[in-house]
Amino acid sequence: EVRVRFAPSPTGPLHIGGVRTALYNYLFAKKMGGKFLLRIEDTDQTRFVPGAEEYIQESLAWLGISPDESPWNPGDCGPYRQSERKPSYMQYALDLVEAGHAYYAFDTSEELEAMRERLEAARVVQPQYNNITRTQMKNSLTLSEDEVKAKLAAGEPYVIRVKIPRNEEVRLNDMIRGWVMVHTSTLDDKVLMKSDGMPTYHLANIVDDHLMNITHVIRGEEWLPSAPLHVLLYKYFGWEDTMPEFAHLPLLLKPDGNGKLSKRDGDKLGFPVFPINWENKENGETAAGFREQGYLPDAFLNFLSFLGWNPGDEREIFSLEELIKAFSVERIGKSGTKFDIAKAKWYNEQYLRAKSNPELAEYVISGASADGITILPETAEAIVSLTKERVTFPADLWQECKFVVTSPAEFDEAIASKRWNADAVTVLTAYAELLEGYTGAYDAEKAKAMLGETAEAKEIKLGKVMQAVRLAITGVGVGPDLMEIFAILGTEEVAKRIRFALA
Ligand code: GLU
Repeated sequence: EVRVRFAPSPTGPLHIGGVRTALYNYLFAKKMGGKFLLRIEDTDQTRFVPGAEEYIQESLAWLGISPDESPWNPGDCGPYRQSERKPSYMQYALDLVEAGHAYYAFDTSEELEAMRERLEAARVVQPQYNNITRTQMKNSLTLSEDEVKAKLAAGEPYVIRVKIPRNEEVRLNDMIRGWVMVHTSTLDDKVLMKSDGMPTYHLANIVDDHLMNITHVIRGEEWLPSAPLHVLLYKYFGWEDTMPEFAHLPLLLKPDGNGKLSKRDGDKLGFPVFPINWENKENGETAAGFREQGYLPDAFLNFLSFLGWNPGDEREIFSLEELIKAFSVERIGKSGTKFDIAKAKWYNEQYLRAKSNPELAEYVISGASADGITILPETAEAIVSLTKERVTFPADLWQECKFVVTSPAEFDEAIASKRWNADAVTVLTAYAELLEGYTGAYDAEKAKAMLGETAEAKEIKLGKVMQAVRLAITGVGVGPDLMEIFAILGTEEVAKRIRFALA
């Protein structure tokens, strides 16, 4: 059975890149009839941020990609929060020490700093604790067995480091990148157990993936450099046979393609890079979310799915079910994907327009009610059909059409100064008079015909006064089809608004 996991660290709001990783894991699991797990990687307690776990849970729930197993609905492979597994990691590290693949290191931070300075002075490009430097440091490879025992007995702080072999080639076959080969001289002796008794990401990640029977590791490209170490750890634990396959997803790039997409880009260019609103109660830090900006979850999901993957044909609109069917890791690109907010908006428009008018009318009704206005479902639906082709977000349906329900109290000065003239006054006066005496049927066509006749009778070109007419009725210079608005308002209201504008 395919089992994949999304393994975020609760260090803040989940970035859109993280959500994409979760989605691809979900799609792959469902496509293969497998399971999608969520594991909270919280071994770095100094970086823990309260609320971050809940944020992850709520974001995934919003998108409908809820895990089959997680801290909140555990399966048989718990705990699903690494901090809760803390007591068992040490034994794994000690097994590696026993087998000669890891060792105790007793260096103080001053000693490590001194080593770094020495290496920098010697112009070593990438100062590392590795097979060369470890011979000069205080660890169980350089100290005698008795010295090590004494230090441990005295409770001296230590870490456990992996012993990277000196001259080996590590190979892994990434599902997206193909063969990746790394020489061990480029790796350093990473810490596996910290002095506080917590495992590092590397150890906990491997142990957990093993204990949770993970078959495929699908994660961001930033983890590719760690993958060779992970391959070595699988080997040292004797778990090679069940080692998961790896797929490292390409980066999400800034809109101009220059580097990794960050929160700063969103702030600068005015778009969110987080799924839902975030507020850090401790330091007051906030971040804007797609959900609160009015993105529909299925539209956002569809947009997200295309940030690195494509179906290989022209289709662009996919429901979650359709995505599951169409998804394949083979069609994930190798190079980074530029983030394009215009595309996100386009998706939102498509999904919004695909909704029924009664469904969208709900947004109008709640928008109006937030402004203290009660409107009838018929009016709300009429507003919807007027606006749905013009807007990007549900809230715009009401915002763009408020004037249908509330007659304008003010008029756009810039438009008025350009378009309000004697001809406009003549036509509007005559039209109001005509309407006041009219009791017949009044739809968009009739409204237009009557306006046309009025202008003709006064020998004025309708096109020249049209914007003034719009201004009189709506208060602004642009908007949906004006004759449709006339029809919704009815003769009495149109006449009344014209009189008010003329006054
Ligand atoms: N905890 C890591 C992260 O925050 C998980 C990386 C992985 O999937 O192995 O991204």
